[in-house]
Amino acid sequence: MSRYDGRYADPTSFRDRKSDFGGYGGSSGYSRGGGYGGVERSDGYNGPSTNHSGSKKEFDNIVLPREHFDNLIPFEKNFYVEHPAVTALSEDAVAAYRRQREISVQGRNIPKPVRTFEETNFPDYVLQEVLKAGFTEPTAIQSQGWPMALKGRDLIGLAETGSGKTLAYLLPAIVHVNAQPYLAPGDGPIVLVLAPTRELAVQIQQEATKFGVSSRIRNTCIYGGVPKGPQIRDLQKGVEIVIATPGRLIDMLEGRHTNLRRVTYLVVDEADRMLDMGFEPQIRKIIAQIRPDRQTLYWSATWPKEVESLAHQFLHDPYKVIIGSQDLKANHAIQQIVEVVSEHEKYQKLIKLLEQIMDGNRILIFMETKRGCDQITRQLRMDGWPALSIHGDKSQAERDWVLSEFKAGKSPIMTATDVAARGLGL
Ligand code: AMP
Repeated sequence: MSRYDGRYADPTSFRDRKSDFGGYGGSSGYSRGGGYGGVERSDGYNGPSTNHSGSKKEFDNIVLPREHFDNLIPFEKNFYVEHPAVTALSEDAVAAYRRQREISVQGRNIPKPVRTFEETNFPDYVLQEVLKAGFTEPTAIQSQGWPMALKGRDLIGLAETGSGKTLAYLLPAIVHVNAQPYLAPGDGPIVLVLAPTRELAVQIQQEATKFGVSSRIRNTCIYGGVPKGPQIRDLQKGVEIVIATPGRLIDMLEGRHTNLRRVTYLVVDEADRMLDMGFEPQIRKIIAQIRPDRQTLYWSATWPKEVESLAHQFLHDPYKVIIGSQDLKANHAIQQIVEVVSEHEKYQKLIKLLEQIMDGNRILIFMETKRGCDQITRQLRMDGWPALSIHGDKSQAERDWVLSEFKAGKSPIMTATDVAARGLGL
């Protein structure tokens, strides 16, 4: 029997529980599902001395004073129960497995990797969804990342897009939510996922919906470029998981449409991309509102100094897991051919390439600028090529339409700026 069966069984007792819930997040010993691991509890504030400096002028009206983080009520975050088959693995076998899957690890008390879904010891309601999706084994990042995340510790994950990293943090997030008290009216989310672009946020939401449905975990996606009304309504109804781009989330916090008092599981996805896009002040402001003893999972495809420095400020005693080499830049499964051409040769070269490779399959062309994107798309269309474009100046409705035309193969050529490059989920 899955553990969420009795979840709504006794709302009255739940409300009674909530009354002693205190003002600032955390559990009063009540767990929505019970029964899953929960062998260790975090004891109040033990977080890092978070640097709240950031850029002082912006968003000051939502920065919480330090006292808000005093006397925090403990919450449960360690759910890991090691499977006997994993316990039995020798250190040599562990090292061989990590080598084979190109997993490198750093940190204190690192758990052994899990090699099968069964070894994760995820509750049934999570495992069933994974099997329903037709997955046969954990990807490398999941194999090492799941036990780390389930232990409730902070985690730095260096993994490429396409590595399965979204589920590496979402499945432990679902287990985390299920062990927390239900949301009370006015409560904000328990899990916050920060993502750099709308496309990535929507893609994460699709996974959160698919894998959270069996435990009735609600989610919403908060991003700019679309009306706020429906997002505000979702937030006010109460959602356990919020996936957000930083700017719109700050709007929502300033408008008091949500708050981060209940956030105990924070994910920063594509941190390198966020810093590239100049989101550091917003990230700082957002994190400054979250209780310091939260669990933080910090993901990046690359590891430049700025990304590392931000990690040092917001993470406490993290594990670090790296898939592939430290200087991850590209997906090694993709053959890359570099040709250097001068500006005036580019269009003709592109046409020649298209003539060679256009066989009904879809083709993505990345441009440096939005204007270039529009120009080339226009030119291609004039020359009879079925091209559409996607970039940051397009409305969300247009982006969605272009993506769907492209995915369906109706317009097999799509041009895009690199802002739209990640998280297209094609
Ligand atoms: P991500 O790196 O999170 O963008 O994931 C890339 C794709 O891999 C997504 O479509 C996932 O649904 C899929 N995926 C995640 N985990 C697995 C798995 N264990 N086996 C096969 N596919 C997976």
